Amino acid sequence: MVYVTRKSHFSASHRLFNPEWNDSRNDEIFDKCNNPRGHGHNYVLEVTVAGQPDQETGYVIDLKKLRDILEEEIIEKVDHKHLNYDVDFLQGIIPTAENVAVMFWQIIERKLPSGKLHSVKLFESDNNFVEYFGDPVKIKRFAVSHETAEMV
Ligand SMILES: [Zn+2]
Repeated sequence: MVYVTRKSHFSASHRLFNPEWNDSRNDEIFDKCNNPRGHGHNYVLEVTVAGQPDQETGYVIDLKKLRDILEEEIIEKVDHKHLNYDVDFLQGIIPTAENVAVMFWQIIERKLPSGKLHSVKLFESDNNFVEYFGDPVKIKRFAVSHETAEMV
């Protein structure tokens, strides 16, 4: 197996809160990340595809194709957006790096023309990142209330 990685960047804002909790509980758990109008990150996304190099091309996956998939399916949808409100596939999900990485995986995996998705690594900062390898995980999707939608 050879592992091929494409790195991409995007900037987005988010707010971490659980809509089923009151303000004090949200403040206690999420602290500054619960700032009502959100806060931003310069995210770095690293997507790794594993496979055998093709005998004719030498590629596991054509990195231009992987770049295009990431641009069209992920970056265009999240760059300069508010992850809580602007991104269809994140609606109702607490947009932690963990949850966002899992949702990215689900989208990227379906689009890969060759190779097998090995990992999705998402950096929120130089020091904090998460990495997901596709094991089954449960993510809660909260009902999106009208009130929340109006905050946009
Ligand atoms: Zn944050």
